[in-house]
Amino acid sequence: MTTLLYTHPACLDHDPGRHHPESPARLRAVLAALDDPEFARLERCEAPQAAREDLLRVHPRRHVDGILGTVPETGHIAIDADTVLSPASGEAALRAAGAVVAAVDAVVAKEADNAFCAVRPPGHHAEPQRAMGFCLFNNAAIGALRAREVHGLARVAVVDFDVHHGNGTQAAFEADGTLFYASTHQFPLYPGTGAASETGVGNVVNVPLRPMAGSSQFRLGVTQRILPALDAFRPELMIVSAGFDAHRSDPLAQLMLEEADYTWVTEKLLEIADRHAAGRLVATLEGGYDLSALAASAAAHIRVLMSA
Ligand SMILES: [Zn+2]
Repeated sequence: MTTLLYTHPACLDHDPGRHHPESPARLRAVLAALDDPEFARLERCEAPQAAREDLLRVHPRRHVDGILGTVPETGHIAIDADTVLSPASGEAALRAAGAVVAAVDAVVAKEADNAFCAVRPPGHHAEPQRAMGFCLFNNAAIGALRAREVHGLARVAVVDFDVHHGNGTQAAFEADGTLFYASTHQFPLYPGTGAASETGVGNVVNVPLRPMAGSSQFRLGVTQRILPALDAFRPELMIVSAGFDAHRSDPLAQLMLEEADYTWVTEKLLEIADRHAAGRLVATLEGGYDLSALAASAAAHIRVLMSA
């Protein structure tokens, strides 16, 4: 069986501006790492553009039309202080969401064991009605609702180990007990949500971690809080919001993880997927802003997916 790699050149063309941390160089670094012969077995797939109906399962029409209608013909338009559109941003955002949709379809159809979506812009801060934090559409949530409504899966989990809390995914899921969201994140930190007391309808598990928490606190939180909750939820599909900005080299946060932590957590999430979801797992790139740490950490994550 195989691991699929979804990406598209349009995701390199989305340009939030010089000096913006969410740069095209991030995706170039990940793809360069995956050029190594050890990743030759990855089955490379072109990410399609998400269909409007896929976006509309998470985002209201006004948000979708607002984003796509704001894309500038030249230059940049800032939606907020962090979130900036360039001429290529509309296609990039549609390809990023479409990658997760296509990966969900392929994994549910048993065309592959699992998949990694090497895309940008990221998605987990995008709330149903609001783009923010470099994110335009919520790629992971769009994939989850595709799985539930098109493929009829009864329960879908998103696990998010990006160093920031995925406020957008939580907002999309928190009232719906067929969906599950768990996050480890530095706290307090942008976007300010993700306290342990935020539990949705019992389907949200937040594990806030102090700055400098490091591997031991991260692994303890995953082991004690997230894995048991996943076992109780019994997801039929696991989606991973794979941000690598909790790495010790990352300039935006101080959680102090290492590549080995990404190997470890990926193994644990695959075990859950094997136990409840016939191994079905789709990961999508979120943050990660130190280029070499991002590339090495994504490679460590994908190496485990390929060993499934
Ligand atoms: Zn992040």
